[in-house]
Amino acid sequence: MIVREGKSVYKGVAIGSIFVYRKAEKAVNKVEIEDTAAEIARFEAAKEKAMGQLKGLYEKARVDVGEEEAMIFDVHQMLLDDLDYNESITGIIENDKMNAEYAVFMTGEQMAAMFLAMDDDYMRGRAADIHDISDRLISILNGTQVSPEAMPEPVIIVAEDLAPSETVQFDKSKLLAIVTQKGSANSHTAILARTMNIPSLVTTDIEIDQEYHGRQAVVDGFAGLIYIDPDEETMAKMVAKKKKADEQRALLQEMKGKETVTQAGKHIHLYSNIGGVGDVDAVLENDSEGIGLFRSEFLYLGCDDYPSEEVQFEAYKTVLSKMNGKKVIIRTLDIGADKQIDYFDLPKEENPALGYRAIRICLTRKEVFKTQLRALFRASAFGNLGIMFPMIISVKEIEQIKEMVEEVKLELAREDVAVGDVELGIMIETPAAAVTSDLLAPHVDFFSIGTNDLSQYTLAIDRQNQSLDNFFDPHHEAILRLIQMTIENAHKYGAWCGICGELGADEELTAKFVQMGIDELSVSPGYTLDLRKRIREC
Ligand code: PEP
Ligand code: MG
Repeated sequence: MIVREGKSVYKGVAIGSIFVYRKAEKAVNKVEIEDTAAEIARFEAAKEKAMGQLKGLYEKARVDVGEEEAMIFDVHQMLLDDLDYNESITGIIENDKMNAEYAVFMTGEQMAAMFLAMDDDYMRGRAADIHDISDRLISILNGTQVSPEAMPEPVIIVAEDLAPSETVQFDKSKLLAIVTQKGSANSHTAILARTMNIPSLVTTDIEIDQEYHGRQAVVDGFAGLIYIDPDEETMAKMVAKKKKADEQRALLQEMKGKETVTQAGKHIHLYSNIGGVGDVDAVLENDSEGIGLFRSEFLYLGCDDYPSEEVQFEAYKTVLSKMNGKKVIIRTLDIGADKQIDYFDLPKEENPALGYRAIRICLTRKEVFKTQLRALFRASAFGNLGIMFPMIISVKEIEQIKEMVEEVKLELAREDVAVGDVELGIMIETPAAAVTSDLLAPHVDFFSIGTNDLSQYTLAIDRQNQSLDNFFDPHHEAILRLIQMTIENAHKYGAWCGICGELGADEELTAKFVQMGIDELSVSPGYTLDLRKRIREC
């Protein structure tokens, strides 16, 4: 039995086999081969697998987002079967005696360059598709692809670290636990684990060893341990611990249907944080009263190209319809820093957390922002929508946002498109916003305090840097004072104020937040019932 220790970011016990996740290798090795027939057979097998995946993706997209948007996967299938593409690959293998990965890479580069040199916009756009299918083939060939077939049953993911763009590719129903060598409690991997309600360890002293792949393990999210090949005694103990945890969870079920109200009779809106349409079921299962933060950027992270207005509209409409009149607050695109998306082609920065991100991107790439606003306002007719904007530091930004909002509303009115009543709010996640919250409050309906970033910027501690964990104090007086100040200023000007950062679920602070006058707490769905119980005790 091997035991490794990490920092737990979500409690619980998971038992299952390990899936060692390595980053998809983009660098392709050039290797001379002798058996060209075997190499061509390897390519053909990868092609068949890719074709099967694309068929599956086409079907899934057709059902999820409609025929038109699904067409891209049809195009990919045609390109994959293209005679020139295939002849070029097999030619490089046969004539130059090169490995399949290299042959696919070279062919992809040459054909993409050819498309890019064309006059026609549509044909130029196919260059990205050629890259896409080549990347798919290469990752199948070198075994770094994470596909649903690669994870036939629920697994414990062991990885060096996971970027948000990587976590979105996992089939969430197949994850039992996440164990990473790096990461921090406030990283988006940790947030994802909490949203999915699965135990997770970060900064674990575990080797990313392929030898571990497929081996039996137990993750104890209470003690921060992972046992690989647990002995009988440990397994029996862990099974009992899991049973107890499941029983406690079952006991919490009695909180369902109860009001989230303090002893003094104050109702606190208890909402959930989600990353996508697939998380809504967990919101409803946990009897949450609404959605306080829909991180819309995960929709962008899950696409290979800018999601169209239609794709976004369908996603927002689905969430609003499923929530059936309950409040849904969707945050506009918050990328940059750790959330990088290739097709945005963002510049490399010395200091990305202080760089070109979130609203700064939206206010400079207005076509991207406008597409999202149109989708949001169109969807607003299907439920109770609030829109909030991330990383605000000034009134000027709110004015620019409102100008765009008015433009979009006018456009939709001219097109005879119905829109609902939408509350507009901002995230308070910079010290600048908290300190000037008295100036910002008159311009909005609500504030939502993003304590993850607010803590990072107030304490000058990078939320991604695990080596600073010992300096990080989530209960630092500076953070608490900024929260207090923000709530008071919101109320002074008739706005409501909530917390959607991870601190909102910290039960040691619940009584304090209630005392401060907080109106709403938005937490991972799995925390809802615990927090309701805690609030009812306040
Ligand atoms: C926050 O900063 O607290 C927040 C909720 O946003 P995110 O974690 O997505 O940056
Ligand atoms: Mg944030």
